[in-house]
Amino acid sequence: MTGAAATAAETHPTVTASAPAKTNLVLHVGSPTADGYHPLETLFVAVDLRETVSASLDPALALRGSGAVVTVEPAPGSAYERMVEEGTARLADIPLDESNLAVRAALAVCAELGIPVPGLRLHLRKAVPVAGGMGGGSADAAAALVAVNQLLASHLGTRPLTAEELHRLGAALGADVPFMLLGGAAIGRGTGTELEPVAAHARLHLVFVPQDQGLSTPAVYRQWDAANGVPGLTSGDRTVMIPRIVEQQPAGTAPDPVSAEVLDALAHGSAPRLAALVRNDLQAPAVHLLPELATLLEHGVELGAVVGWVSGSGPTVCFLAATAEDAQAFVGAFGREGRRALAVVAPAPGARVESAG
Ligand code: ATP
Repeated sequence: MTGAAATAAETHPTVTASAPAKTNLVLHVGSPTADGYHPLETLFVAVDLRETVSASLDPALALRGSGAVVTVEPAPGSAYERMVEEGTARLADIPLDESNLAVRAALAVCAELGIPVPGLRLHLRKAVPVAGGMGGGSADAAAALVAVNQLLASHLGTRPLTAEELHRLGAALGADVPFMLLGGAAIGRGTGTELEPVAAHARLHLVFVPQDQGLSTPAVYRQWDAANGVPGLTSGDRTVMIPRIVEQQPAGTAPDPVSAEVLDALAHGSAPRLAALVRNDLQAPAVHLLPELATLLEHGVELGAVVGWVSGSGPTVCFLAATAEDAQAFVGAFGREGRRALAVVAPAPGARVESAG
């Protein structure tokens, strides 16, 4: 913990919450609807790589007119910390203003409760590489929603928001946030926010291989559009259709459903069956933008991975290992080649309070 964060945690009421990263075992994309969104049908699994957010009440901040301030450090001992130290990840990629998803989450809780922002310090301990398709920013938002909700209820006597209310606030912050609140495994529909929890009884051993450079999610969708004959302009997180072209567009095609076979394979934790069923429609666009991902995907399978895929919109690549020992062996093999790799286990619990005081 940094000195400033330690002081805040020691002298002000603080609640710390954590939330998991994710990967998508299935990600089917449909063509965009007139409002610009690509309808998805995805199979999320949460992994035990967790972001931590400590939320502290500091009334002096409110007096100075700054409602919520955020500080960030790499999670001590995490692979992300080593990536920052060796220069393959940059803390500077994380915004420290009101565009930070944890800050937006804190402000959303206050707005929902109808209270002025009381003066909040948010301290993020990041374990999830930024812009990697693992949903680290969304995990920060989910952890902040949970931490701030409990902090305000415990120390200011506000009404605790329900899980449904937090889900709705999360969906307004980002498509992955509701799943980070829920955790486990779930089908996501719509933009990914309509969740149906599914069974995942056995542990999956996964290895994430982050890349030195991030991939912008809008750029990957723009490439998907180009490959699928969809004319449009991408702006921010959504594809904005040119109105004249929208009129000429056929109605958007629905994404393929998540199959019963893949749900059954996940329920039983069957790595060999999952290998044949994992599918990500954003993989080809991501590989088009970063061709070296194709080589890495092949290489992981040569090393013995059951299957590999681009995680979400990439560029992190995820491999499924048959056993925990295999996963550790891949981490070692990648490490000897100079690549940072992280062994994780899925499924993992959703956002939860870790400590309160
Ligand atoms: P997604 O697939 O949802 O885009 P991702 O895992 O690829 O997620 P994130 O790590 O969530 O990517 O970061 C995406 C961008 O969000 C970053 O480039 C950064 O500018 C912005 N951002 C806002 N808040 C945060 C945060 N708390 N942590 C990391 N990035 C954040």
